[in-house]
Amino acid sequence: MKLVTYSHQGAQGVGVIASDPQKVVPVAALGFSAQDMNQFIRQLDGRSPTEFTAQTDAAPGLPLSDCRLLAPIPRPQQDVVCLGVNYYEHRDETLASNIKYDGQLNKTIYFSKRVNRAVDPNGAIESHADLTSQLDYEVELAVILGRDAKNVPMDQVKDYVLGYTILNDVSARDLQAAHQQWYFGKSLDNFTPMGPWIVTRDEFDWMPKTGIRSYVNGELRQNSSTDLMMTSIEDAVHQLTQGVTLLAGTIIAMGTPSGVGMAFTPPKFMRPGDVVRCEIDGIGALENTVE
Ligand code: MG
Repeated sequence: MKLVTYSHQGAQGVGVIASDPQKVVPVAALGFSAQDMNQFIRQLDGRSPTEFTAQTDAAPGLPLSDCRLLAPIPRPQQDVVCLGVNYYEHRDETLASNIKYDGQLNKTIYFSKRVNRAVDPNGAIESHADLTSQLDYEVELAVILGRDAKNVPMDQVKDYVLGYTILNDVSARDLQAAHQQWYFGKSLDNFTPMGPWIVTRDEFDWMPKTGIRSYVNGELRQNSSTDLMMTSIEDAVHQLTQGVTLLAGTIIAMGTPSGVGMAFTPPKFMRPGDVVRCEIDGIGALENTVE
């Protein structure tokens, strides 16, 4: 099942897509009063939305072609939790960059990213040319939690995962290097494309092993698999929730594989007009233009 935030005839709504891939069923038809995805997740109260598959199939819906898809969680309720340097080959290319990272730590790197408004599928990434000349892309698998999570044992992490989406962790490398801490360089306005939808957990094996790629202007830049992460989804949720309560609706961006722009010689940073396409098999594609 897919969970979407959409605009239809000028009105924003939350819907689900079940057996008919062209039919968006507003969650009101399933008895929910949610105005946005965060409310819908809260109202699900830990249940899987797939419990409503038969009801969704029977309900009237909107043609997907009449809907404009927005970022599935347009306004995250808190900063996005990010894992840094979480694929082995990206670790190696980061060691060769001027980003502060000595490669000596064996512990997972966690940081966060401010997202006041996620960029919609087909929306614009803002270049912030007055602040950065090293604009970079990072395709990532983003995990969405469906329940408040505290002290979650490894073998129960699965029960807390609602589903997955694609996130582009757009990064200003010069700001990352200058400030020695990644928050500013990754939190600029319109730096977080997300979407096109949340695919529920049941559509993947646990844990997901699937292809992850990015292209800039049609040129393949990143090409890996989500099973090549250093810290897994189970590891990360278990570890963080030993001390931090992660609320339902939390977005965890699991890090990016090798092939980011800063790693090329010379670097291949993004410029206005560039089209960035992020793909994860089983979710789809997220395409955005730099403005
Ligand atoms: Mg990242």
